[in-house]
Amino acid sequence: MSEATPGVEVVTFGCRLNASESEDIAAQARAEGLSDLVVFNTCAVTREAVRQARQAIRHVKRLRPGARLAATGCAVQIDPQAFAAMPELDLVIGNRTKTSPGALGAEGPRVRVSDIFAAEETMAARPRPTAQAAAHSLRKRARAYVQIQNGCDHRCTFCIIPFGRGESRSIPADDVSARVRNLAQHGIAEVVLTGVDLTSWGADLEGAPSLGALVRQILTTAPELKRLRLSSLDAAEMDAELLDVIADEPRLMPHLHLSIQAGDDLILKRMKRRHRRAQILDLVSSVRARRPEMAIGADLIVGFPTESDEAFRRTCDLVEEAGLSFLHVFPFSARPGTPAARMPQLPPPLIAQRAAALRRAGAAALRRRLEFRCGSRARALVEAPGRARDEDYIEVKFTGEAPVGSIITGPITGLTETHVQLGRWRLLEDDSLAPLPIPGALV
Ligand code: SF4
Repeated sequence: MSEATPGVEVVTFGCRLNASESEDIAAQARAEGLSDLVVFNTCAVTREAVRQARQAIRHVKRLRPGARLAATGCAVQIDPQAFAAMPELDLVIGNRTKTSPGALGAEGPRVRVSDIFAAEETMAARPRPTAQAAAHSLRKRARAYVQIQNGCDHRCTFCIIPFGRGESRSIPADDVSARVRNLAQHGIAEVVLTGVDLTSWGADLEGAPSLGALVRQILTTAPELKRLRLSSLDAAEMDAELLDVIADEPRLMPHLHLSIQAGDDLILKRMKRRHRRAQILDLVSSVRARRPEMAIGADLIVGFPTESDEAFRRTCDLVEEAGLSFLHVFPFSARPGTPAARMPQLPPPLIAQRAAALRRAGAAALRRRLEFRCGSRARALVEAPGRARDEDYIEVKFTGEAPVGSIITGPITGLTETHVQLGRWRLLEDDSLAPLPIPGALV
């Protein structure tokens, strides 16, 4: 994915948070009038993500030998020396300053990486790019990502991310609400709240407000906003107020993505996760009791050190038992410096075999969701010509033309392995947000 402005391109790897920061980098670079610059906003979540970023840097240098190349992001923050050693790069910038004014300028040292654990600021606390630059980045956009938090205070044994992002810091509710309202007033129909550890939002703010309270405030202060989504949530830390908002706020979309990681309690314990299998099952049933149409996705790791056949089977079984619809399957990849890298590793071919098996289970689970939706009506946000996303996040294909960022509605008349097909549709003009008329119950 890349965020382009004239003469500046930001190539993004990794999560939605990184994607939202890439938009800020592009807007800032545009505001400063920079040109002929390519910024690589890297990810460190797996070894493969780091390899791809390094490969892309070398590839772009061959294609655009005259351009200035800069690398930033989690992979750079965690291992700045490795990127500093790449002759293709003109600038190596840490996560802490990557969106700051002047960060990409020619003045100053080539390597600009400081201690991330000393960071107290978050993106919203920094000067914002100009309104003109921000408006440019909103053109022809279906949705916008808004950062509410950065960093993580947990230390899951497989995870390197805290070393790239530092401790958890929250953006105050009023700043988040103002940003969302501004986006909605510029015509953005859907906002996704992002962060590294979203459910820890508020813990460091006065009065320790909950994520549910933030969602409630956003929806109250931005009445123009049509749809709000949350990115990945820690299943152990969903607060009671968030469950209440799920029940009574139709503009909060009926789709949750949970960071589950495994379905076996011993593996969860060795991962130092804060939930157990039974809590996941309780959580999904209490969410569905409040919102029966809720679609639930999950991040799952396969091949974690010591994972037995039986433990893997319990993870596979959880997909069906919890009625999960969207899976992100990560084959375990040891990150140097993490406790899991020092545990007894499984053979890579076995990890690949398990990843393929779980992805097959994921494809079957998605198919069940698509079949379940067949015959109901979609209210889908147009992402690109002929492609839209329904409220529960299933992909919708349609014929004819509708503007990107508009919401269309019509009956679901067919399906493939990956998406549903919309029959005769119309632009949704009345803003009625009655729950999706879904036939039957899913689980
Ligand atoms: S909660 Fe765990 S997996 Fe998520 S960022 Fe923090 S340490 Fe990593």
